[in-house]
Amino acid sequence: MNRSEILDRVRSRTEPWDIVVIGGGATGAGCAVDAASRGLDVLLLEQHDFGKGTSSRSTKLVHGGVRYLAQGNISLVREALKERGILLKNAPHVVHKLEFVVPCYSLWQKIFYGAGLKVYDLLSGKYSLGRSRIISRAETLQRLPGVRTERLAGGVLYFDGQFDDARLLIDLVRTAQACGAATLNYAKVTSLNKNADAKLDGLTFDDTETGEEFTVSAKAIINATGAFCDSVRRMTNAEAKSLVIFSRGIHLVFDKKFFPSDTALLIPATSDGRVLFCIPWLGSLLVGTTDTVVDRPELEPKALESEIEFVLETVRSYLSPAPERNDILSVFAGIRPLVQSDNSKHTPRLSRGHTIEIDESHLLTITGGKWTTYRQMAEDAVDQAILIAQLPRSTSTTADLKIIGPASSETSFVGQKLHPDLPYDESDVNRAVRDEYALTLEDVLARRTRALFLNAKVAIEIAPKVAELMAVELGKDQEWITEQLDAFEQTAKNYLVHSDVVTNRES
Ligand SMILES: Cc1cc2nc3c(=O)[nH]c(=O)nc-3n(C[C@H](O)[C@H](O)[C@H](O)COP(=O)(O)OP(=O)(O)OC[C@H]3O[C@@H](n4cnc5c(N)ncnc54)[C@H](O)[C@@H]3O)c2cc1C
Repeated sequence: MNRSEILDRVRSRTEPWDIVVIGGGATGAGCAVDAASRGLDVLLLEQHDFGKGTSSRSTKLVHGGVRYLAQGNISLVREALKERGILLKNAPHVVHKLEFVVPCYSLWQKIFYGAGLKVYDLLSGKYSLGRSRIISRAETLQRLPGVRTERLAGGVLYFDGQFDDARLLIDLVRTAQACGAATLNYAKVTSLNKNADAKLDGLTFDDTETGEEFTVSAKAIINATGAFCDSVRRMTNAEAKSLVIFSRGIHLVFDKKFFPSDTALLIPATSDGRVLFCIPWLGSLLVGTTDTVVDRPELEPKALESEIEFVLETVRSYLSPAPERNDILSVFAGIRPLVQSDNSKHTPRLSRGHTIEIDESHLLTITGGKWTTYRQMAEDAVDQAILIAQLPRSTSTTADLKIIGPASSETSFVGQKLHPDLPYDESDVNRAVRDEYALTLEDVLARRTRALFLNAKVAIEIAPKVAELMAVELGKDQEWITEQLDAFEQTAKNYLVHSDVVTNRES
């Protein structure tokens, strides 16, 4: 179904939807898949593009989280390792196993990290991706070329999962639609509507493409808006206390020559007590992340100079030669919603790193958690929504549901490469518009392809060509192309560390 057909479906619906999900990130798309695959009538609404929020800005790991293990959060790690296994089984086209090595600079570190990762193995049980092992100095150097050699005693090798977050998200949205859900990006929820008993019975949203306003009825409403969940909660209760606080994490992307390996490097203890990853990703090197408390969520968060410097400084003490500021190809930031611990008595907390709150009006808010656990989060949320709305009882089937892969183009057309430094060609643009709900230049360059995240300068260079290809597909004119280029350049500036934006546009 294309967008106008979905809008027609929404316009013509007279019955209430069983569930309306607000938020098209991992959690919301997961809820739409879960509910639609149980046979419920589902509408998913995303205010911007699918994945514009945190879900396209992660470290791209499907993991149990060795950091949580160090914190003793065993139940979270065990659950995430199980979900890692389920995701590898159900989405093998986008999730794969990745080898990691923790370099050790003393015998004690070898024993400590070796033992910790053995526990990680044990917790993964039947979902294990392979056994961890202590490796020699020589093998460490072979797997981590360029790692600091001074006092290097060896390393610990283990396995986790890796994926392309925005790609999996689009595939989840397509899976939800294949199961019968109506899914709309550029559909911003503006108010929640109540019946005479002060319980929610619907909502109003704007199609931000046309400005048209829609009011729909719903038996249950799931608020899956991540870091934005408090603004939706306050649509039903202006006095609602904040559920979440915010932490920004940034990543830097470099040429893979700085770490020419298919193995990822885990830096186990940064000066602020976190772990930092150097990961091969889509032919580049991805390094991150950080943890800075911020006072509000933003759809397009920006990295601070101090955060960039912190990542460079940490990498400098592990890699030689280390990449420098001028080598940064792209910098991107994301916001974590962290659930506050002192919530009201109406807040039943589930001990899985995520929280579900059902307020007086029956708004169900689900937040926290991680990409890796989106499926379990969705299952929990839909189970609760079924109870509130007194929908027919059913059991989630998503543990065994295949997530559909990218649409094959109608023809076998493979166009010219968009740029020698990027793994994309013209047919990726056509497919994004035809089959993957891309409406803007940014949708294609940031989330259907990852051009903006891989190399911001190159993304700006190829933008005119991509805008032309999109205009042909969408039937748009030169004015649209100019508007799209202006908007994209504004956004892309946030991903550059240099202020000199190089455009490829005819003046
Ligand atoms: C730096 C960083 C690194 C991370 N790395 C990993 C990792 O490697 N592995 C892992 O498992 N997890 C990781 N995570 C966690 C993971 O990314 C998040 O848990 C997950 O993406 C959250 O998804 P979400 O759907 O809840 O939120 P989001 O992706 O933010 O989605 C919420 C959506 O709601 C929409 N919205 C808001 N208001 C409205 C409205 N009024 N109407 C309609 N839509 C609205 C927003 O536009 C947004 O798209 C990381 C997080 C960060 C910040």
